[in-house]
Amino acid sequence: MYDIVIIGAGTAGLSAAIYGVRAGKTVLILESGMFGGQIVNSRCIENYPGIPKISGYEFSKQLYDQAVSLGAEYRSTRAANLLKKDGSFTVLTEEGKEELSAKTVIVAAGAKHRTLGVPGEEKLKGQGVSYCAACDGAFFRNQEVAVVGGGSTALSDAAVLSDYCKKVYLIHRRDTFRGEAKLVDTLKEKENVEFVLNSRITAIHGEEAVESVTVENVSIGGTKELPVQGVFVAVGQVPDNQMAAGLVELDDMGYIISGEDCKTSCPGIFAAGDCRTKEVRQLVTAASDGAVAALAACEFMI
Ligand SMILES: Cc1cc2nc3c(=O)[nH]c(=O)nc-3n(C[C@H](O)[C@H](O)[C@H](O)COP(=O)(O)OP(=O)(O)OC[C@H]3O[C@@H](n4cnc5c(N)ncnc54)[C@H](O)[C@@H]3O)c2cc1C
Repeated sequence: MYDIVIIGAGTAGLSAAIYGVRAGKTVLILESGMFGGQIVNSRCIENYPGIPKISGYEFSKQLYDQAVSLGAEYRSTRAANLLKKDGSFTVLTEEGKEELSAKTVIVAAGAKHRTLGVPGEEKLKGQGVSYCAACDGAFFRNQEVAVVGGGSTALSDAAVLSDYCKKVYLIHRRDTFRGEAKLVDTLKEKENVEFVLNSRITAIHGEEAVESVTVENVSIGGTKELPVQGVFVAVGQVPDNQMAAGLVELDDMGYIISGEDCKTSCPGIFAAGDCRTKEVRQLVTAASDGAVAALAACEFMI
């Protein structure tokens, strides 16, 4: 029986582990992919207080090493389901169908990229369709690419890609952006960036790899083809909290309903980081949630 089982080894989960083990608790972290979560492939982080500049990998590795060297146990496996039994919890894992017992559980499962849901997207995933410019952008050096979205992620993806791609089409279904105005101004000054506003991609074409996209103007109607080899989709995220859905309340979008205290509707289960309802989804707030959730879990066990 672990004191705390943490689902997800992103910034929130690893921060929770650090606080949990330092409070003398037995902590097991479960991770379905690679430790580090969303940030692991990011080229550069410049907004984490106290660290002026660091790569996503280095940041994740340091967090992981810190948690493990302090005594947290780490296991590569997906948490598939969460059950409550006689005042404690059972986490069922997918691989091996293990049953892990825990006095408390911290869900820190983050969020995943939203898809466009258009023809060609699924078939050409990894063949030109990408959800991470920081991870895949370098493959499109001197090529023409499209970035889809209107938030800060889409804007910064377009900025990064414009440094080495021949041409970047920024496709957004409205005529104004939700993302940072400063980034919009920077992009306007770039000669190889073209804004395709009031528009949406209706199809992605290509046999072995992306060759073009069809773009529809949602304001005046009509479609046109853009010859691109890469499509970077940055239209938001969706959480995957289904493993806890039987025990905790989720909002309409699937985020775990929780306040700044990281408590959920089920006593003993805590939610930390991007997987919970919150205004600001960033590394610093994920780390902060990790600390709050772990300390709340410790208090729950008293
Ligand atoms: C390209 C990009 C760049 C960004 N740049 C910045 C930046 O510069 N500064 C900043 O502050 N923020 C940045 N962010 C946002 C930041 O990365 C997130 O806010 C942060 O990663 C959230 O951390 P988290 O631990 O809550 O979730 P995540 O990082 O999403 O980690 C969740 C982890 O849980 C795992 N998981 C999910 N389900 C299960 C399961 N069932 N079982 C086991 N494991 C599971 C996932 O594999 C993942 O590793 C960026 C995000 C992206 C995508």
